[in-house]
Amino acid sequence: MSEAISPQVRVPTVGFVSLGCPKALTDSELILTQLSAEGYKTSKTFQGADLVIVNTCGFIDDAVKESLDTIGEALAENGRVIVTGCLGAKTADNGDNMVRQMHPKVLAVTGPHATQEVMDAVHVNLPKPHDPFVDLVPNSFGVAGIKLTPRHYAYLKISEGCNHRCTFCIIPSMRGDLVSRPIGDVLTEARALFAGGVKELLVISQDTSAYGVDVKYRTGFWDGKPVKTRMLELVQALGEIAEPFGAWVRLHYVYPYPSVDDVLPLMASGQVLPYLDVPLQHSHPDVLRRMKRPASGEKNLERLLKWREVCPEIVIRSTFIAGFPGETEEEFEHLLNFVREAEIDRAGCFAYSAVTGATANNLPGMLPIELREERRARFMKVAEAMSITKLQRRVGSTMQILVDTAPGMGKKGGVGRSYADAPEIDGVVRLLPPEKISKTLKVGEFTKARIVAAQGHDLVAMPI
Ligand code: SF4
Repeated sequence: MSEAISPQVRVPTVGFVSLGCPKALTDSELILTQLSAEGYKTSKTFQGADLVIVNTCGFIDDAVKESLDTIGEALAENGRVIVTGCLGAKTADNGDNMVRQMHPKVLAVTGPHATQEVMDAVHVNLPKPHDPFVDLVPNSFGVAGIKLTPRHYAYLKISEGCNHRCTFCIIPSMRGDLVSRPIGDVLTEARALFAGGVKELLVISQDTSAYGVDVKYRTGFWDGKPVKTRMLELVQALGEIAEPFGAWVRLHYVYPYPSVDDVLPLMASGQVLPYLDVPLQHSHPDVLRRMKRPASGEKNLERLLKWREVCPEIVIRSTFIAGFPGETEEEFEHLLNFVREAEIDRAGCFAYSAVTGATANNLPGMLPIELREERRARFMKVAEAMSITKLQRRVGSTMQILVDTAPGMGKKGGVGRSYADAPEIDGVVRLLPPEKISKTLKVGEFTKARIVAAQGHDLVAMPI
């Protein structure tokens, strides 16, 4: 008796390249989830793929170049390319779409957060597989879909776009005004992520403190209960959902509005991590006004000091711009003093660089590039000294560490992070080989560790 041999069905394969910030990453995750749910195979390489999707970044000129180069490579190596993301929404000087002008052979171009448009372009160029046995459940995260981050942490995007019009930024022109996701959807995704093994949830948006403004803080529903679409209620609910999983919730892109004061007690009581990523960009009120920054009228130093009173262990991370058009030496020194007085734990700094299409390009008082760079270097010296002082204060203490890498179950040590370190942007905790023979380290699990030294931006610790 001969067995029926089923014909080999070749699964259509889509190569995928994801460039840009965590917000772009979550767009990529949505597209990959949809591709997988429809039965497409996805790969990280151009070769062997039937077509390639490039998710681009268009924020600063270097990112534009990287994106255009990647599209060029994908065209050369594969030939069939769909472009999505922020660069896809950009126009060239003559008003044409920039990507199409530079790479006329691309199959389709969409802007950011355009999963459906990307899928439509995929369907036209690479018909859907018709295999009834294709697994429709993409992975263990269920409704949360495919994640590009390691299994134990994930970004949770709560809104798209931004209502502000900071003069150095072109994000609103690419991503549009603020659109908050329904709170029920956000909380459902959070629970699915924790249930799938996520131990650290990173809340992202362009302005987390503005969550719900666009829907007038409408009351939504989750788990049969009414919940307001507002930052405080969101953070409260996330803390409650995370608790039984013993997981962390970390907040990014929070502006120093008075309303954020109410979130601080949740940090002090341990419901969410006492960590705030507050992109301040500057401290001097006149520079902030020229930048048209959100909360520029607020007394930021007083606010930050008050937060430290309510929650002494809070870690503040921020980013700044040195050499903004018209910045005087006195304004710059105001910034240096601010970093010292506010004891900013982690700071990044860019020398101001013109972004094509930003209104700041037309401001008077553009500073020479050398002066901008010099101020950035001076800033980093002050910020690094502050960061080191704060890290040194931790030596001798015991901290909870989330393990990111631990070859051989940690017998030779590993690398992890404490509540003070967000992945990718902050330092790490270097874990020494445990003294106790029975002690192991596992990726995605917590360990307690005694801090034995500070080393640059990092800490060194002994797992206990
Ligand atoms: S808050 Fe300002 S910098 Fe941030 S996305 Fe909105 S406009 Fe851009």
